[in-house]
Amino acid sequence: MKMMIKNKRDRAKETKHSSLVVRWVSIVALTITVSFVLFSVVVYQIVSKQSMNQQEETSNNVVVTLERTLSSIPDELEISNVIPSLSPSTRRILNGGPAISSKDTRNNAFSDNLISLISNPDINVAVYNRHNEVVFANGDTTPKFSPFKGNRRVVQVKRNNKTTLVTYQKVYSAVNNKLTGYVVVSNEMTYYNHLMSNLLHWMLIISLIAIIFFVAISYVLVVNVVRPIKTMSKVAKEVNADPNSEARIKPLNRDDELAELASSINQMLDRMQSYIEQQKQFVGDVSHELRTPVAVIEGHLNMLERWGKDDPQILDESIKASLQEADRMKHLIQEMLDLTRAEQIDVQYPYEIATVNEVVRRVVSDLAMVHPDFKIQLDEDDLPDDTEIQMYHGHLEQLLVILIDNGIKYSTDRKQINVSAGVTKKEVSIMVQDFGEGISPEDQKKIFNRFYRVDKARTREKGGNGLGLSIAQKLVDSYKGEISVESVEGQGSQFKMVFPVLSKKRAAELRKIEVEKHKNDVPDGILK
Ligand code: ADP
Repeated sequence: MKMMIKNKRDRAKETKHSSLVVRWVSIVALTITVSFVLFSVVVYQIVSKQSMNQQEETSNNVVVTLERTLSSIPDELEISNVIPSLSPSTRRILNGGPAISSKDTRNNAFSDNLISLISNPDINVAVYNRHNEVVFANGDTTPKFSPFKGNRRVVQVKRNNKTTLVTYQKVYSAVNNKLTGYVVVSNEMTYYNHLMSNLLHWMLIISLIAIIFFVAISYVLVVNVVRPIKTMSKVAKEVNADPNSEARIKPLNRDDELAELASSINQMLDRMQSYIEQQKQFVGDVSHELRTPVAVIEGHLNMLERWGKDDPQILDESIKASLQEADRMKHLIQEMLDLTRAEQIDVQYPYEIATVNEVVRRVVSDLAMVHPDFKIQLDEDDLPDDTEIQMYHGHLEQLLVILIDNGIKYSTDRKQINVSAGVTKKEVSIMVQDFGEGISPEDQKKIFNRFYRVDKARTREKGGNGLGLSIAQKLVDSYKGEISVESVEGQGSQFKMVFPVLSKKRAAELRKIEVEKHKNDVPDGILK
């Protein structure tokens, strides 16, 4: 059941993954479409408004001119008084023909202004009397009258995708201020309608071309991004299935974040596999190291079981030898623990401060007491008393013990160890020098490796597991320091550790953080 659920989930993930291209392209398409639609609407509105203003002005000119002309008539408007004032073609109108058409403007008596206005083929004019009867009309169609409030009313009439602008105007006599009739001017706005439909047409075409163009470009771009991601995912899956797989992402031939990611993933895989390898090696080494003491103890116990327990001397020797091996195992286990812990220092001791002189002095005097046959000299003249480094003091002690202990272990005739410390602007250095057997240049490269001993049998005699210097190396690395060795075979060795010096300002900050951290600690007494 669990498997089924898992499979389903995996499948769901894969579908999602494959839709990445579709999703990105749709988002681009949608964004472009929305932007173009918005842009088009705004442009369309602006052009329409501008152009409509012009048309309204044209209609307005006609209306104002007609109204001014007709306002000179004192009585209600009728054919007999309107025609003479606007046109001499009275007879034709009385015969039922069209009042006037743009064709015969040359023969009428219109003022120049009126002629030019009404000769516009878009403009149709009609004059109505107070009883809504047409008394004059010009143009091919007569604009209809409909009652309205106020002096003027402007209406846009839409028919067959064409807009006509109709203006209704009341006419008052200038003589007695009485309402004499109405003027209706309709403007067919051919230019406006043509412009707007053309604009819409072109906008649609350009938007369509732009959408197709951008979708194609974004498709190419997205596929270009998704392809390397797919390769990475394939490699990740392969390594997931077989952690030892040699699969790596091929160089992407590009210079961007994806290439960086690919190379980081490759590095990560290399490192991960080398860790796995190291881990295997470590487990192998550890079992190998433990096998000897276990075999020795087992041998002694077998011997005791078979015949040795009755011989007090053998019994005593075997118990002593077994205890010694047990002690060695305990020591080895402790060292292995130290080695593991040395890798997690930045998490466990992030804000600790060690005062170098204090620690060095303490360790030197302690070891001098343990090894009275050795002359352990301390030279710290070049180190001001308050020199501090960012390190847990216990680790500095451990480092010094490892190095001084080695100096003692691998000494020959001259039983002397020199410990010295100094500081420059940026670095604190601590040196441990001995005059013992020394280390060959070949071995100098290997002594920091786990379980490496120059002379296995002899070192074992001296109680060494080959872990001391690897613990030292790990500790120093964790504190961003460096450890190195200079040695001449038969003359002695000098180990040097260098750490970044801790500035007074940073030390104050660390102390503050430490205080803040402990503020929230619950005192033991309260809980008890
Ligand atoms: P061990 O616990 O065996 O001393 P280390 O890791 O401390 O392990 O040292 C690794 C090897 O390096 C030692 O076995 C020894 O052969 C060599 N070595 C370390 N320190 C010194 C020294 N001061 N003089 C000579 N040889 C040394």
